[in-house]
Amino acid sequence: MDCFKDRIQLPRNMIENSMFEEEPDVVDLAKEPCIHPLDPDEVEYEPRSSRLLVRGLGEHEMDDDEEDYESSAKLLGMSFMNRSSGLRNNMSVYRQNPNESCSVPSTRTVVVCTVVLVIAVSLIMAIYLLPKCTFTKEGCYKKNHTMELIYPLATNGKLFPWAKIRLPPDVVPLHYDLVLQPNLTTLKFTGSVNIVVNVIQVTWKIVLHSSGLNITKATITSAGGHQAKPAEFLEYPLHDQIAVMAPEALLVGQNYTVNIEYSSNLSDTYYGFYKISYKDENSEWFAATQFEPLAARSAFPCFDEPAFKATFLIKIKRDEKLLTLSNMPKKATTPVTNGIVQDEFFVSLKMSTYLVAFVVADLKNISRETNGSLVSIYAIPQHLNQVGYALNTAVKLLEFYQEYFLIDYPLQKLDLVAIPDFQSGAMENWGLITFRETALLFDSNTSSARDKKLITAVIAHELAHQWFGNLVTMGWWNDLWLNEGFATFMEYVAMEEIFPELHSDEDLLNLIFKAMMKDSLNSSHPVSSAVQSSEQIEEMFDALSYIKGASLLLMLKHYLTKDVFQAGIEVYLHNHNYGSAQSDDLWDSMNEITNGTLDVKKLMKTWILHKGFPLVTVVRKRNVISIQQEKFLYHMEPENWTSDTSYLWHIPLTYITSSCNFTHCTNAYLLDQKSAVIELPEEVEWIKFNVDMNGYYIVHYAEDWKTLIDLLKKNHTALSPKDRANLINNIFNLASLGKESLEKAFELIDYLNKESSTAPLTQALFQLSHIYSLLEKKGEQQLAVRVMHLLGDKIDQQRWTDDGTLSERELRSMLLAFACTHDMRNCRATATEMFKKWMKSNGTMSLPSDVMKAIFIAGAKSSDGWEFLLKMYSSSVSEAEKSKMIEALATTEDVRKLIWLMQNSLEGKVIRAQELSHIISTVSQSLTGYLLAWDFVKENWEKLTRKFHLGSYTIQNIISLSTSQFATKAHLLEVKSFFESKSEESSQLRCVKEAIDTIQLNIQWMERNLAKLQELL
Ligand SMILES: [Zn+2]
Repeated sequence: MDCFKDRIQLPRNMIENSMFEEEPDVVDLAKEPCIHPLDPDEVEYEPRSSRLLVRGLGEHEMDDDEEDYESSAKLLGMSFMNRSSGLRNNMSVYRQNPNESCSVPSTRTVVVCTVVLVIAVSLIMAIYLLPKCTFTKEGCYKKNHTMELIYPLATNGKLFPWAKIRLPPDVVPLHYDLVLQPNLTTLKFTGSVNIVVNVIQVTWKIVLHSSGLNITKATITSAGGHQAKPAEFLEYPLHDQIAVMAPEALLVGQNYTVNIEYSSNLSDTYYGFYKISYKDENSEWFAATQFEPLAARSAFPCFDEPAFKATFLIKIKRDEKLLTLSNMPKKATTPVTNGIVQDEFFVSLKMSTYLVAFVVADLKNISRETNGSLVSIYAIPQHLNQVGYALNTAVKLLEFYQEYFLIDYPLQKLDLVAIPDFQSGAMENWGLITFRETALLFDSNTSSARDKKLITAVIAHELAHQWFGNLVTMGWWNDLWLNEGFATFMEYVAMEEIFPELHSDEDLLNLIFKAMMKDSLNSSHPVSSAVQSSEQIEEMFDALSYIKGASLLLMLKHYLTKDVFQAGIEVYLHNHNYGSAQSDDLWDSMNEITNGTLDVKKLMKTWILHKGFPLVTVVRKRNVISIQQEKFLYHMEPENWTSDTSYLWHIPLTYITSSCNFTHCTNAYLLDQKSAVIELPEEVEWIKFNVDMNGYYIVHYAEDWKTLIDLLKKNHTALSPKDRANLINNIFNLASLGKESLEKAFELIDYLNKESSTAPLTQALFQLSHIYSLLEKKGEQQLAVRVMHLLGDKIDQQRWTDDGTLSERELRSMLLAFACTHDMRNCRATATEMFKKWMKSNGTMSLPSDVMKAIFIAGAKSSDGWEFLLKMYSSSVSEAEKSKMIEALATTEDVRKLIWLMQNSLEGKVIRAQELSHIISTVSQSLTGYLLAWDFVKENWEKLTRKFHLGSYTIQNIISLSTSQFATKAHLLEVKSFFESKSEESSQLRCVKEAIDTIQLNIQWMERNLAKLQELL
């Protein structure tokens, strides 16, 4: 999936890893098929020492977690029942002798009775005073660890025979036959699935996923048997699971076919089999799927975990006027009833459920064949004239990947479809890639240089997934980075090779800087992190899986060399094709190539399994360079400042010096100790580490910053543009950390007047606009304007055309949009003039695409302009143009209009809900809108999380952006208490913790720097 090729900023979110330890083992009631079906009445709890006996089901050895549950249970009702029966037995001892019943009790009896009474009262207190608290070794857990989790009840009140979130390993799926009939009038669908399963361990149950499906019938047929036997099915919605109970034991090694008949509604969210309202002459509804990560189960019952790969035969019944697409080519179309036909697709390759896809709509396409595969781009008919660029790009990239991986694309066709309403950038379904329209459609009149780059990058990302993700899949979501980090990394490798003029490496650089900001907070998490709940899985789709993952691979590629790295990838793909893999499998494949000269696994584990990144401090004394590593971490409370000295990264350092500063002179040194000394052959004037920012670390030059500042002033081209961007980024980060003064950071960017490269200017704009925004919200408008003065000349130098290299054009778009938003220099005057002409021509005049957004922003400042822009938005057929319009509309200073925009986008009629996070993002950056955006999020929290799913990157973005401008203790408290008042799932989101960290960091930054800035500027 591609969530980051977007106009939105990266989400910032986090995990407390310690929270997500392995799922506790609980007793599988049906593992021993002694009784069937399970009935609550037949189960009685009899704790004996550290064992849990379920009568009729045999004894189960308990592991530590089970013991925890048992001890919790002891304090709660479960053991109380037993203890109280024990109490009754004890009491009965005293009733044994009726003769003594009236005698005066002895002192011993009184003491014993008192003790018994105290115990009884204590137990009752434990039950009544702590009804919602479960004790374990770690203390009190308020949720998740309830008795229901151990012995869940199905919806019909019977015991559900499985308690874990992950499916049992006793049965595996081999093949699915799926027949679906969506009805685009009633907006419902019916389905029938036959799943061939193979039995690994003898069992009576088949547990699989199902979510929101109305199941009417289930049968089981044995391999040899011809007759389907009706089977009871139990549902446990909390885990999205159903259990089909076999009428007889299912035998090891045998295959069985499970048939399930069901119906459901087409979803009104962006998940599962969902509907889109849309009008053209043939149709008003469009139906598409989005299954990753957990929504295949809401379209058909299935084993919805990535490692359960199987083949799929899909049949879809549809209106004869529409078209269906699925992963595989169409095999046959047969009439069903009046006006309804059935499309049957070829049997798929072995693949994961989250990659299954189908689309039912009125679509048109263009196609081209390459290397035996037919590549097609599909769009709604009125957009067919915008698909040419995507077809050329997809064909080129497909050819590149086949050569790079030495594995042919294995399907006969590859469809890329533009979907009119889509949550992420795109989704890599095997053979049927779905895209947001702005990520696939290129219109030569309205698409900017930036739009072209976006489309190319998203196609490159999704095509890379056809190998990384589809052919070899991560075994579980903890290793999502193997899919996403790799696809992101490969997208830049491919773009550098095939489209060098796009300078995509500059984009990656900026994304890495942003990912590091997130990774430097205490709320960050390791790239490979244990996850199990749906929110935790959703939250893995973040900048760390994508960008940090890609950055670590980039670092490794540079260390191993390009050829060794590529050979390692080839081994990995060949060793695991049609299967699944873990991080270690990748390192093992690399080690096959390094053949003992370097232990890649040992090196990379230091990066994958730990959150954050190192800060390398460099001290130069003549030709002796002392280097030292520590963890780079923002500390919110200075009094608790402790350096994490325990962790050691194996850092492949690179450096260049004044004696030779070309790429071929790059030196390497593996820092696998806390500190080390490098002796140079000669004394040098300067040294620069982390060449071209190919490593994931920040460098502090201690006493040497002055030398580098002088170098930039004197001869900035001695360093590459990426190195210059890297220095700007590092010094501003060190200033935020308090390791370097803000004064020195401003001194470093003093050379910017001479700068003409996009990468360093983009980084400077990023750092300065961040400070600008904080100061503006603090009421320090004058100071905020002074912060930006360094870029004033650069803004003035921009031309209002589409001339220049792609990189220059992109810089122009960024600088002018910023300048017109904040009314800097002459931007608004020029842009307003152009907007008026465009308005006078009733939108027919052609505007330069790169500066179009800046012109719209200036135009949207007046009420007339805003209304006209909204009218044009409603009638435009160019998604590229519409996206610039909607962002401009969201920069208005009219509060009523901002509220109207957000409300209408949430409703999804006039403005599609896919735009909402962009709108909130834009509104929340402005002085007029930032409090409004937060109020909107608070008021609509339930609607937002229903539409976009708790934990999804859209929700991550909405939380992070609507709170990122807060820098006061009052706001900190408000954000904290808002999420605390919501469900535990909400308050425990990583992105919530990250939002809180960010506000604290903003407060700290203000306290530390506001006075200094006033002095400085
Ligand atoms: Zn992806």
